[in-house]
Amino acid sequence: MIDDLLDMSLIEYGQLEIKKEPFDLRKILDSVLDIFLHEAQSKELLISSHLDPGIPELLIGDFSRLRQALVNLVGNAIKFTEQGEIRIHVQLLKQIDEHTILLKFAVQDTGCGIPKDKMDLIFERFTQVDGSYTRQHGGTGLGLALCKKIVTLLGGRIWVESMPGKGSTFYFTLPFFLED
Ligand code: ADP
Repeated sequence: MIDDLLDMSLIEYGQLEIKKEPFDLRKILDSVLDIFLHEAQSKELLISSHLDPGIPELLIGDFSRLRQALVNLVGNAIKFTEQGEIRIHVQLLKQIDEHTILLKFAVQDTGCGIPKDKMDLIFERFTQVDGSYTRQHGGTGLGLALCKKIVTLLGGRIWVESMPGKGSTFYFTLPFFLED
């Protein structure tokens, strides 16, 4: 919680440095899955990641912020899902120019879903759909607000589609640079 608040204020004061480093996208996805494998298994949830063909393995960008966004979304997906599966899917949305591509990430769950009138509100800090659920499962109401700040700072967009009782999919887009 302290870390989230700190990152949030760094972004607000324009002090969060955006890194441009080469990384292997497959490895980032695997490292996110690794964090949650145990928790998913203990709830008997399947968890997987899928990378569309055509996405270069090596990209350049701020991979630790990408991982932070994914960790927040996958953590929520597990927290709010009692049965079924969590899937991370990465798509090549478009090639912006010779050096830049736009990726679309999806974190899909088969959990409790989010009522339509709450879908925008949950990206505001300290907003939770059901306080009693959170009291049971923990949470600060900061994760999605931070995700939105990170994704916006890095030049992307974040949104959710959801059917109460069926599940939710959180989407975000992010541009990355290609190796020369
Ligand atoms: P926290 O999870 O710490 O409460 P977040 O900002 O990450 O805070 O999420 C805010 C609220 O959005 C959650 O309390 C929950 O009501 C709702 N939410 C987030 N992710 C999901 C999800 N995958 N399924 C259902 N509800 C969700």
